[in-house]
Amino acid sequence: MAFDFDLLVIGAGSGGVRASRMAAAKGARVAVVENRYLGGTCVNVGCVPKKLFVYASEYSEKAKEAAGFGVDMSVNGFDWATLRDNKTHEIERLNGIYGTMLGNAGVTVINGTARIKDAHTVTVEGKEYSAERILIAVGGWPFKPEVPGAELAITSNEAFYLERYPKRVIVVGGGYIAVEFAGIFNGLGSSVKLVYRGEQVLRGFDNGVRNFAAEQIAAKGIEILVNTDIAAIEQNADESLKVTFKDGSTTEVDCVMYATGRRPMTDGLNLETLGVATRDDGTIVADDFFRTSVDSIYALGDVVGTPALTPVALAQGMKFVAQQFAGDTSSMDYSNIATAVFCQPNIATVGLTEEEAGAQFSGDVTVFESSFRPMKHTISGLPERSYMKLLVQTSTDKVIGVHMVGADSGEIMQGLAVAIKAGATKAVFDSTIGIHPTAAEEFVTMRSPARQI
Ligand code: FAD
Ligand code: NDP
Repeated sequence: MAFDFDLLVIGAGSGGVRASRMAAAKGARVAVVENRYLGGTCVNVGCVPKKLFVYASEYSEKAKEAAGFGVDMSVNGFDWATLRDNKTHEIERLNGIYGTMLGNAGVTVINGTARIKDAHTVTVEGKEYSAERILIAVGGWPFKPEVPGAELAITSNEAFYLERYPKRVIVVGGGYIAVEFAGIFNGLGSSVKLVYRGEQVLRGFDNGVRNFAAEQIAAKGIEILVNTDIAAIEQNADESLKVTFKDGSTTEVDCVMYATGRRPMTDGLNLETLGVATRDDGTIVADDFFRTSVDSIYALGDVVGTPALTPVALAQGMKFVAQQFAGDTSSMDYSNIATAVFCQPNIATVGLTEEEAGAQFSGDVTVFESSFRPMKHTISGLPERSYMKLLVQTSTDKVIGVHMVGADSGEIMQGLAVAIKAGATKAVFDSTIGIHPTAAEEFVTMRSPARQI
């Protein structure tokens, strides 16, 4: 049977765009369907605008640091509309680049919402397209718990386009988005409460990192309320919000932002009728070759429940194309994926946490740990401190985990991730000459173990 396309991709986000372009480069006839924005979450309401806001949020503290160096950088105000609109212009520029890139690659871009009719047919706004392979790369959408008044609250999607800048903000959640946005709002001048239902924010990260980061975040002026959750939100006559917590206490704010996770955006795709298997959390079950339970339908990116990170979706897109169009029989390697939380200071990590290392290699782990005041702050007078940890498998000397809380740790960790991927031992770290004076040199000068576990 002759199909309209060799590959039809649903979703022009990180994974979908990469798979489309790479498949077209291999000579495949490719279409990508997008109903919202080219570039997907990362470009439009994720990594890119978030990082631009993080940059903006850092100036107030830079001004404080400067005073100790004799430089007067007094902050004379913050114009939200300038930041918001400059960010939007940049995103629109990127949308244009994505369109051009797909066009130049020979990919057909179809605007509209895709619904899968059968194993080889997709409908978009009433038109049918046939394809030998269908790739679902629809990503996710913010989830808000069912709390009375939750409709008055925003998510990260709206945070990028607020009409008015909020003076008092509650951010609910303890994951990446909550912690990053608490830092953004705080740096831009809001008073911020970070409300988390559990014992400590950033569940899943190394416990030493979580505790150290929480202290640093609190020292920046963010009030962290743990074991706390919202019972109800009501609107006051002046449009501010009255928030009632589960313990009955109340507070008044201008904005509540839920950062309580994301759910796969599979509504309306027709997965159930087609028999595409999903998990309880809605993610699509896909094997090492991105095959779903229906032949010819594939899925990758956030929607399959692998780490929800843009570089993972990009790598999956490339692996999928290699497997389908270049005879690659290997599968993705999800080990040692480095990641960063862009709060102040940054958190960055690669490899196992101390808890995971202890569980996996009990009695065979040496922990190196260091906490110090960065040189800049000896004069800036700011109380910020940095934290570093190396986890070593004692019997093999292999470094199995690297963690940092500190300025630029997102930048620092990328290089260390290469070393970890290459299987570097502690002896290799020790024989590496440091770059002086940097914070990162501490990673090659840690000699005394803090403990064995
Ligand atoms: P997406 O990029 O979400 O793309 C899916 C696309 O499919 C969307 O454009 C959507 O409109 C489209 N679509 C959905 N359904 C249909 C349909 N039926 N028909 C047509 N089109 C459809 N990751 C990092 O690595 N670093 C970061 O710093 C980072 N920061 C983030 C900050 C925020 C606030 C958020 C929300 C996410 C962040 N992420 C970050 C995560 C990252 O954005 C995602 O992991 C990544 O975008 C996933 O790519 P994807 O291809 O799976 O889906
Ligand atoms: P996460 O899953 O990371 O965090 C969700 C948070 O919300 C958790 O603290 C969770 O608590 C809490 N939560 C969940 N449900 C409820 C509820 N019903 N009531 C109260 N609290 C609740 O999701 P995010 O939305 O922060 O981010 C989504 C993903 O996007 C991230 O996991 C990450 O992969 C990616 N991302 C990456 C970034 C980066 O690379 N820098 C930046 C931003 C996002 P609990 O811990 O108890 O489950």
